Amino acid sequence: MKPMKEKNSHCIDDVPYKHYDWARVVGQNCENIVGYVPVPVGIAGPIPIDGVEYPIPMATTEGALLASTHRGARAISMCGGCHSVVLAEGMTRAPVVGVPTLAEAGALAKFVKEQFPLIKAAFESTTRFGKLLELKPCVVGRKVFLRFRAFTGDAMGMNMVTKGVDKALSVIQEHFPKMEVLALSGNYCTDKKPSAINWIEGRGKSVVCEATVTADVVERVLKTSVDRLVQLNIDKNYIGSAMAGSLGGFNAQAANVVAAVFLATGQDPAQVVESSTCLTSMTKTETGDLIISVTMPSIEVGTVGGGTGLQAQHAMLEMIGCAGANQAQPGANSQLLSRVVAAGVLSAELSLMSGLVAGHLLSAHMKLNRKQH
Ligand code: NAP
Repeated sequence: MKPMKEKNSHCIDDVPYKHYDWARVVGQNCENIVGYVPVPVGIAGPIPIDGVEYPIPMATTEGALLASTHRGARAISMCGGCHSVVLAEGMTRAPVVGVPTLAEAGALAKFVKEQFPLIKAAFESTTRFGKLLELKPCVVGRKVFLRFRAFTGDAMGMNMVTKGVDKALSVIQEHFPKMEVLALSGNYCTDKKPSAINWIEGRGKSVVCEATVTADVVERVLKTSVDRLVQLNIDKNYIGSAMAGSLGGFNAQAANVVAAVFLATGQDPAQVVESSTCLTSMTKTETGDLIISVTMPSIEVGTVGGGTGLQAQHAMLEMIGCAGANQAQPGANSQLLSRVVAAGVLSAELSLMSGLVAGHLLSAHMKLNRKQH
């Protein structure tokens, strides 16, 4: 095999590395560093969310995405903005443990339910902000999966919860000395993989966001009609996704916005997998207007930790008004970010669905994706 040095080491010359605050990165965000990869960033909106205007920062290389999201945000803004509800929140981690007998597995599952206050105290001794909300056991033969769910303040919370779980397990082990921790993560969490458990029970923030768009704005701005949008939503996002056997993919392009906002604001990009599960709903009001909503059970975001402290990403969070820890109300900043993500998805769903009905999908991408040099 040819060593990399001879083969393609010159490529590294095109990777920028100067004028970057590496002190924020080392020991926190990356190893074996060779530079950074610049990704263009734009702003869609602003869009009024619950009466206050917010920008939607998006980092992407997909031409037409910002324009489309911006168009949807504009249509929603012209009709008074959108409304959001954070229904639940809680980051999860589920270790898998093994015990010598099935009887002991059953006893362990019973113990963690009955002794929840003891386990909660152990978990919370490791963090100032984490609050254990629930511990759900799942017995499979002589293995027990323990799904811990915790409030994590303004942090996305994976490290925080994993640390708390480690401590809680050591307390459980005092009562079950033969218990073996097989892995701190047993995939019943579920992190960075498609799963029904996150879709049904939620993970991170469970958010619903909706807007009423008048028939007039649908026609003038989105160049289509309420009836055609409602019908396409049934045909594509419900029937098409059902026939594809989709798991939480009852939407047109939620992942596009989630990925772009995640990159712009320093989120963990691999969590786009579950954060972009979304059901888009469209109905016609008695007066002929459109009600559109997005239901997103697993938006995993933080405003402290991870990549949120990097200069540019932090600046984007500041622009929204949710950078860092919220001192007065821990968790309020990360909640706001989850609502901005949902409002961005709502905007993009409205615009893309309209573009599809009007037959503009291909022409918009040809115009904004393929520059004639
Ligand atoms: P973290 O930076 O590891 O922890 C958050 C820190 O911020 C804690 O030390 C916490 O204090 C502190 N903090 C200060 N003010 C806070 C506030 N208002 N709310 C919440 N915390 C506050 O971040 P994390 O979110 O737990 O973990 C995110 C990182 O985990 C990302 O880099 C992600 O890529 C990575 N990750 C890890 C795993 C894993 O298995 N461990 C899996 C996926 C991703 P306390 O110490 O008092 O709690």
